[in-house]
Amino acid sequence: MNSVTLNGLLDLINTYNSKDVEKIKKAYEYAKTLHNGQVRQSGEEYITHPLNVAYILAEMHADSDTICAGLLHDTLEDTNITKEDIAHDFNPQIASLVDGVTKLSKMNFSSKEEQNFANTRKIITSISDDVRIIIIKLADRLHNMRTLKFKSAFKQKENSIETMEIFVPLAYLIGAYRIKSELEDISFRYLKPDKYKEIEEKKLSVEENYIECANEMLYKISRILNDREIPNEIKIRIKNIYGIYKRMCEGNKINDIHDLVALKVIVDEIDNCYITLGLIHREYKPINSRFKDYISCPKTNMYSSLHSTVFGPSDTIIQTQIRTFDMDKIASFGLTAYFDTEKGNARETMQKALNEKFQFYKSLSEIDSTFSDNRQFVNQVKYELFSSLIYVYNSNGDVIELPIGSTVIDFAYKLGSEIGNTLVGAVVNDKFVSVDTILHNKDRVKVITNELSFGPRLEWENKVRTSYARTKIKDFYNG
Ligand code: MN
Repeated sequence: MNSVTLNGLLDLINTYNSKDVEKIKKAYEYAKTLHNGQVRQSGEEYITHPLNVAYILAEMHADSDTICAGLLHDTLEDTNITKEDIAHDFNPQIASLVDGVTKLSKMNFSSKEEQNFANTRKIITSISDDVRIIIIKLADRLHNMRTLKFKSAFKQKENSIETMEIFVPLAYLIGAYRIKSELEDISFRYLKPDKYKEIEEKKLSVEENYIECANEMLYKISRILNDREIPNEIKIRIKNIYGIYKRMCEGNKINDIHDLVALKVIVDEIDNCYITLGLIHREYKPINSRFKDYISCPKTNMYSSLHSTVFGPSDTIIQTQIRTFDMDKIASFGLTAYFDTEKGNARETMQKALNEKFQFYKSLSEIDSTFSDNRQFVNQVKYELFSSLIYVYNSNGDVIELPIGSTVIDFAYKLGSEIGNTLVGAVVNDKFVSVDTILHNKDRVKVITNELSFGPRLEWENKVRTSYARTKIKDFYNG
């Protein structure tokens, strides 16, 4: 990787936000002066770290306050400066972002274990103060993971486990796929170096053929779209090593993984996504069972695209992903991209998107208000939000996200507490079922309620997985 310079950072920022370049230059000089004389374990000057963090944030098209906070993120902890100084020399928003990031790593508890739980809780709940704090923290963690080779073997393992347990699921929840994939691969390499090597070699052995075929398709599709005057950009995406590992653990051989190499076809507007799909299908026969419309039904982390797996050249099977430029930004960077695609006040825009578009957020607030004990809080988040999720449809086709093992009761409460309290049964995939039925991926669920119902049964408490449902059942009896 080429080393990042101030000019590199400014050039990148100029591509999407040219008006704040001076402010960012000032933050860089400020941080550089404050960290003067400090060196990282790699032997490099300390400023290289915040500079890289800012660069990762700029790749996500973060707003200028976030970039400045990225440059200043270690100054409160490592130098004599105060939050008030930053507020005075820059602005109060930057000061509170830097303060937020600093507080995530600066808590004292009697035992190391207790401290870990408290820290983890702080990291997770900072999402509701200002989600940009967690985004800066993710960028900070990514650069620290990239440079982990300079740390002891113990630290490497410890940081990799923490990354896999906390930061990867958080990155996934807010849709930051690029960061998530890279964090997974780096951690996996430290945790299971032999497996990592084995899969990397397997991947290299098949990759070349796939890439050649994907390239051939790329030129053909791009010519077809240009002829139709549909603005487009086509990229080849290769699955990350950890992603391949997970698929192989499910029993797949490397040749069965049809999105090992995928073609991302990016066009200007939604209508053209569907036109492009038709054009691709006329050129390459689709595997009919492998078509997904995530534009009409976005994933719960707001990922949208059309996916169609087609028969490519030379007997290859290749997945195509068709989306608009805005969808592509959200696919790579998740929540952060809303700042750039919708403009306006960065904090408000992102907090609003979080509230309205990301289902996990409501569950997280619920868990936060239910558990005062840090260990219980962290365990519930892992159990309910970080573990495997299922996606079911309600009667109008909306996708509802639930933790694996959820029942009809969880589903009903997710739709609303009144619905849960008057639940008497359900129709799942056209069959009548009882309320304690466990739901599975892609189930179509229609709840049956009865206003004359006397309320939830007490034993339902043991038949739910989400803490929201459990709280509402308890409230009914205690309220
Ligand atoms: Mn740092």
